Formats: sequence, structure tokens, C-alpha cells
Amino acid sequence: MDIDIKETIASAISGKAPGLSSLEDVTMAAATLTMAQTCALCILRFLQIPAGPVYLTRSLDAISEALGVELQHPNSNGLSPCPVCLGTLDMALVDKVVGSFKEQEYDASSAAVTVELPKSVYVRHHSMQVHLKSAHPSLNAATPTDLKDVIKYMVCQTLVSEHSIASDADSDMRIEISFAHEESASEHQFLFDRENSSVKTKTFRKRGVHYTTGDSKAAVLSELGACSDKDFISCFACPPPAIAQPATIGSLVLKRAPIFIGGRYLKLERNISQTPFFVGERRVTELSVADVVGEPIKALVRCDSYNLVGSGREDADVRMLGDGRPFYLECTNPRTTIIKPGQIRAIEDQLRSTKSPVQVRRLQMIRPEDTSIIREGEEHKTKHYCALVWFSSPLSQDKLAEINAIGKQGVLLQQKTPIRVLHRRAPLTRERRLLALELEPIEGKFYKLRLESEAGTYIKEFVHGDLGRTVPSLADMAGVTADIIELDVENVSLDFPPALVDGDC
Ligand SMILES: [Zn+2]
Repeated sequence: MDIDIKETIASAISGKAPGLSSLEDVTMAAATLTMAQTCALCILRFLQIPAGPVYLTRSLDAISEALGVELQHPNSNGLSPCPVCLGTLDMALVDKVVGSFKEQEYDASSAAVTVELPKSVYVRHHSMQVHLKSAHPSLNAATPTDLKDVIKYMVCQTLVSEHSIASDADSDMRIEISFAHEESASEHQFLFDRENSSVKTKTFRKRGVHYTTGDSKAAVLSELGACSDKDFISCFACPPPAIAQPATIGSLVLKRAPIFIGGRYLKLERNISQTPFFVGERRVTELSVADVVGEPIKALVRCDSYNLVGSGREDADVRMLGDGRPFYLECTNPRTTIIKPGQIRAIEDQLRSTKSPVQVRRLQMIRPEDTSIIREGEEHKTKHYCALVWFSSPLSQDKLAEINAIGKQGVLLQQKTPIRVLHRRAPLTRERRLLALELEPIEGKFYKLRLESEAGTYIKEFVHGDLGRTVPSLADMAGVTADIIELDVENVSLDFPPALVDGDC
């Protein structure tokens, strides 16, 4: 990197940096800071040099020479790290963050970087300011360059220059860096313990660990602002005391906004649940639609996890035929989001060619806002069913004609929450409409029932009556006992996923 450090410093002097009117001022201030073990980059900050290329200088010689003092590395090889930034300006940490990001191979073109510092940094920063002001009263009005801004700059610039990742606060890719420094973790506490502190913190113990609440960064800054220099000096050393160990990256969170893949699924066999179905530890169904569809998509987009949301759901023993049931898959923290339509179609083809009992149609990337079609469609869609029904005795021709005549006009049902789902649903009575119903004899006591219903109708209960909890029921209409042997969903009338957008084909 080719930066003229002398020029950067000269422009800071000729600019509006308060209290620095000559190179002599700069050198004197730098010498005071160096005496207190302050690192070269923190010195640049206290000289009010804004976040810029100079902070990325890996060799300190040029800065030392420009300032006329012998300078220290932020981490000083672990001997005595900078007592102001606690070593957070160490380029090795920036490299670590950028390296971890690179390792995950996100296909992001931009990222939003956030930095959280140990609270002691604000106290130590204040301490150094008080010290500097007393040594150089002309620097009284100086506001040092923000530490967070510098760290962010260093990370963002490295991402741009090494990986062409632009910095964008609105990016769907987030890099959250949180620094930790155990040694100074409770240093800010004295601010709240002062008699005239307006902040009350609470300390409590949970599972053997001590927690404090109320000591937010904002509270620390507000207390520092309210504390006079005299009070501060009586409670905290100025310049800030040396530390033994530098700060570390306490947590680094790499997080990408989820992507959504929509489609329609078919279930060609029975005993497949929509999502993995457990009773206690035991898995009830071997297969789930979510697993069959989710695993190949997970491998494609390299997400942490996925969640399947269907437009309603059928029971595990009910097949889903026809055009399939609309669904979408929410993929959390995907590494790959640039996907060619052909790659998604290959998943459809793969399931078809291996004769998987779960098939998908119209699989495609959808926009986040398209997921609302599934959620809102829940109330409006209608469904077509086909069932194999058994009656305790065959129906007369007249009875059959009577039921089919009623079926053509539709039937209004009063359904109490079925006994089989009472353990997970509130006991309510719901009104549901059967839009059409048709009964066709097959053989003996067996009949084929076709019907169209509003979303949320319990079909099995309509057939057998659920001990009088669904009124009327097919059993009531037939005047004999009825039961349902097999049930298939033949159509879910909801137009989803939406037509493909421009460019996808
Ligand atoms: Zn420093």
C-alpha cells in the first residue's frame, strides 16, 4: 500500500484538528501517548486522523518516522498490549475475521460489519483523554477518531481489497464482531457505584454464572459524560493502567438473510409426514416431505437449516396427489444464493428419476414477500379430496340419490375440534362448508367419496361423525355407521408458486 503518512499527518494539522497547529504539537502529543504505552494506531486516532488507508499500514516505521517517536504495535507481541484499544486494532484480528468469512465461501457481494467493544474500552479511552488534556491543554476540545469506526474501516477495506466485498449497511450479509476482555470486564462498574450515578445496575446469578443488567454501553457513556474529570481521576488511573493480555474476538457471527424456495409437493405413498414427526424421542414416520425436499436444497444452497411451510397439511396416512400442495422452504444462513434455474430443476428431476415417494413440481426461488401467499391463502383456498368409505350396510338407490342431491348444493358443517387433535388444538366449534360432495358405489359396503371443501375442514370426522362432534356427518346422512378407509388430497386450489420472474426460465 502506497500512502504518504507524512502527508496524511500534515493534512490533519492543516485541517481543522483542534489543538494541533504544528508538527511540534503532534510530536509532543504523540510522545505523551507513547509514554503511556498507547499503540501507533490509537495515537493516530487521538491525533484526530480519520479512518483511512493509514490505519492499514502493517509497518509502523513510516508512522514512527513521520511522528518522530518510537511507536508500539497494538498487541506489542503480547508483552504489553495497548491499554486503550486493548489490542483490538491488531491487524491479525482483522485477518482472522476476514479469513473466517472467506472460509465459509458466501457468494455475497456486500456485507454489513458491526463491532461491539468491551465496555472497559470506553472508560480507558476517557482516561487517556483526561491524561492527554492535562498534558496538552490545547487538545481540550479534541475528539479522537472513533475506535469502532477504525476497526470497521480496517475490516471493510480488507474485504474490498482481498475479496471485492463492498461495505453496505443494508446488506443481507452481516458480520458481527464482538470483542471480549475478561481482565477488564468489570472496570466500568465504579461509574454506577458512585453516589450520584443515575443508573442502577442489577447483578444476579443464573446457573452459577454472574450476570449484570443495566450497564449498557449507552449507560457507560452517559455516566462518563456526567462524571467530572476530578471525580474520574479519583476513581480510575490516568493514563489507563497496563493490561497483561490483549482482547480477543469473543464471538464472530456470520449471518445471511434467509432465502425462500417455493413449489408444490406430491406424496405418492402413505405414512409420510409433512415435517419430521416425533412422539417423545421416537420418530413416528420414517420419511418426511421436509427431509426429502430439504436435504438436496440444503446441499445446493449450503444453509445451516431449513424449515418447510406448507399451505395446510394432510395427515401422514393421506396421499397428496394431483397438482401437489403449495409449500415453501425457508433456508437459514445460505452460503449460496446465486442459483441457476437448472440447478433447482435438477432436484425435481432427481426425485422423479429415482421414483421417490415424494415429488416436487414448479420448484423455484421465490421472493420473501411471496411467502405471504401461503400464509394468507390458508383461509381462502379450497381442496378436493377422494376417499374410500365403508358403511355398515349398503345404501339404497334412493338414499344414494338423496345424499348426492344434497351434495350438489353443498353442506354447512359444525365441527368441534376433533378428539384426535384435542391435545394440541383449542376446543372450539368451527363452521366449515363442503362445496360439493359425490358418492359412488364401488362394491358391497365400499363407496368412493369425492368432495370439495373449504380450508380447515376435518374430512375424516365429517365421514364418521367423531362421536357427534361433527354435525351433520356422512354417517348421519346415510343413517348407518360410516368409516374412512383411505384418503387422498387431489387438488389444492391455490396459485403458487407465482409465475417465474424475468430472467428465470
Ligand atoms: Zn491501541
